[in-house]
Amino acid sequence: MSWQHRIAEALQARQQQQRLRQRSLLLPDGAGWVRHEGERYRNFAGNDYLGLSDDARIVHAWQQGAARYGVGAGASGHVTGYLQPHAALERALAEWLGYPCALLFNAGYAANQAVIGALAAQGDRILADKLSHASLLEAASLSPATLRRFAHNQPESLHRLLASPAGGDTLVVTEGVFSMDGDSAPLSALHQLTQQAGGWLLVDDAHGIGVQGEQGRGSCWQQGIRPELLIVTFGKAFGVSGAALLCDRSTADYLLQFARHLIYSTAMPPAQAEALRAALEAVRQGDDLRARLVENIARFRHGAQQLGLALTPSTTAIQPLIVGDDAQALALASALRQRGCWVTAIRPPTVPPGTARLRITLTARHTAEDIDRLLEALHEALGQVVGGVA
Ligand SMILES: *Cc1c(COP(=O)(O)O)cnc(C)c1O
Repeated sequence: MSWQHRIAEALQARQQQQRLRQRSLLLPDGAGWVRHEGERYRNFAGNDYLGLSDDARIVHAWQQGAARYGVGAGASGHVTGYLQPHAALERALAEWLGYPCALLFNAGYAANQAVIGALAAQGDRILADKLSHASLLEAASLSPATLRRFAHNQPESLHRLLASPAGGDTLVVTEGVFSMDGDSAPLSALHQLTQQAGGWLLVDDAHGIGVQGEQGRGSCWQQGIRPELLIVTFGKAFGVSGAALLCDRSTADYLLQFARHLIYSTAMPPAQAEALRAALEAVRQGDDLRARLVENIARFRHGAQQLGLALTPSTTAIQPLIVGDDAQALALASALRQRGCWVTAIRPPTVPPGTARLRITLTARHTAEDIDRLLEALHEALGQVVGGVA
């Protein structure tokens, strides 16, 4: 079969399954708003939980950084790309989160690939929560280690997997706050079981950092654990982009030898590192933003309950509405758009089959009126698409 033929077939199959993914060209239009083809929408689909992506302090730091250091690092960190802004950000992150070391990556996806890829060897086992992010599961399945998944957020399930004998080392992998469900992992139980088995725990806190815990230090801090490996990402609550691994000194030294993403990839732009240091300050001092987010979540959940919507137990900014059917999820997203609310339908394979959903996200920048508009739109859209039953 030719490449062209295979590509055409794969696209056609996606189309038939109602699973063709398409990007929409958007223009940001003030906090919490986007424009699409001239229309203005309230944005309930992004991950900018604290609304920092257009924060004046962070934009200014980026501009100052670019003026001082230029727009690119010019090389990998192992060549000439490790600059003062990178070192300062690594130090600030390590101090903030209570680890000896932090290593910067260009993206959370890259960080997960790099860390799991460099650590996991033949004979090791990786035990991952079944709903872990694609970047974690992919890294694990590409590694020479054996990948087993445990039932979502169920320490007993992990316990059973740990009971079977392992040849090599054990790495347990979970998210702090799950990206598509918004629920939090039982981190202390997972960490305890992992430690009893002599393994290491990796927590990817992409959706917890900045939002959960004191000063926004994340899910682990909130639940009182310090996993051996902590991944934080900066494209969500930090409003920017990039990621970091928090770990001990020898693990950092090891990764600097063996993590190819650190060795063969251009370092993060120094101006971005400066922006991230400003974002870290905004996050640390962001109690008012977190309080507003909590208020918005409460207002949404209360309103949704009154409308009889089937909410999940999530208490975070991610408030999914599980629809089940792919086509129906798409129709709902479209009906919400007609009502001025931008919400995305998430379908398999991003989520398990039969659990297509609207992934509604709330931010600190939404107003009470925004939330009420969303609730009203949901009520109407459900009436239109599902026939009045939520
Ligand atoms: C978004 C996300 C990532 C990827 O992070 P990027 O910096 O966007 O590449 C990794 N893990 C989880 C859980 C995520 O939600």
